[in-house]
Amino acid sequence: MPFRRLPLVGGEGGQEQTSVLPVLWSHTLCSPGCRPSVLPTRAFILTCGPDYEKQKPRFKCSAEPCEAAPFCGQCRLAGADFAVPGEYVMPELPEVETVARTLAPCLEGRSLVRIEVLNPGTWQGPIAAESLCERGPLPFAGTGRRGKLLLVCFEKGACLKQGGLPTCSEAPELPEEEAVPLGLAFHLKMSGRLFAYPAGSAPEKHTRLILHLDDGGMIFFDDARKFGYARALTPAVLRGWDFWNKLGPEPFRLDDRAFAARFRGRKSVIKSLLLDQSVIAGIGNIYADESCFRAGIRPDAPASSLSFARLARLRAALVEVLEESIEACGSSIKDYRTARGDAGAFQNAFRVYGRRGKNCLVCGSELRTCRVAGRTTTFCPTCQKG
Ligand SMILES: [Zn+2]
Repeated sequence: MPFRRLPLVGGEGGQEQTSVLPVLWSHTLCSPGCRPSVLPTRAFILTCGPDYEKQKPRFKCSAEPCEAAPFCGQCRLAGADFAVPGEYVMPELPEVETVARTLAPCLEGRSLVRIEVLNPGTWQGPIAAESLCERGPLPFAGTGRRGKLLLVCFEKGACLKQGGLPTCSEAPELPEEEAVPLGLAFHLKMSGRLFAYPAGSAPEKHTRLILHLDDGGMIFFDDARKFGYARALTPAVLRGWDFWNKLGPEPFRLDDRAFAARFRGRKSVIKSLLLDQSVIAGIGNIYADESCFRAGIRPDAPASSLSFARLARLRAALVEVLEESIEACGSSIKDYRTARGDAGAFQNAFRVYGRRGKNCLVCGSELRTCRVAGRTTTFCPTCQKG
């Protein structure tokens, strides 16, 4: 089992959290000396052992600072089960990037021999899952990402790797053959997860789709809520897939000028444009709120009111917050896990998201919320200006 779910512990006694903070975590550690690379400031530590299944877990609170030792491979983070009530949370760019990076080693040197669809609604697009490998196994070239889409690339689709296309207006160099399989696209939506399992593993309760590899290994696509989907990509599919063609540029590929041009003359408020996948790909509620805070911009400010210098600051803040989150393996809220089953740690670094009513970490003012684009939006009334 790559991931063992543990009961929510500590804090408010496992009740629904009204805020993402204080952060609740539990660790499974293979030995008392083993430390994960990212240790939350306040962790509940569970030492696992052969008697784990029989014992009631015993927790102790650790306030020790982070020790930069790597994961031993046996340890798993588990827990971090919190959310803003009433708020839908979808993995955003850093979480999907992390899944792509942690999934890649599981596919290295392997080929896809068969796709098993357990829930018909999970497989979408014009290409039938059973026809994909009918000309033989498809060697994997690696993984990639485009916006919030996770890409699994076959050898001829290696052009899709490395964070997708440079910009939405630059077409990828697709092979001329219209039907050549380039790879698979997964949208994780609310609760999609990808885990590698050894040969012979039985599907989990929420496994919707299985990739069978040439060595017998399997990749499970688990999705409790069934909103996620997968589809096969060919040049013809990509040309005809509206969702793909309308995706805006990747935030890392824009300089200040190109970034500002995405917002020039737009009357909409800045946050709703940040959330619009056709303006910039990959941003959701968390990173929109966090980047606006770091840039000192109110999320409900009309984009047209922002000067070039403030938009440039927003771009820098967005790139900074995305890079920090990728470094921390993303933010773990509800169901998101990396392909290794680990939780991310960036929720420990949230400055505004989910901190309604708490004090601003910069000026001490009480953080406020408003609704922007139908989403709960948290901001500091002092640090952020319209
Ligand atoms: Zn403030």
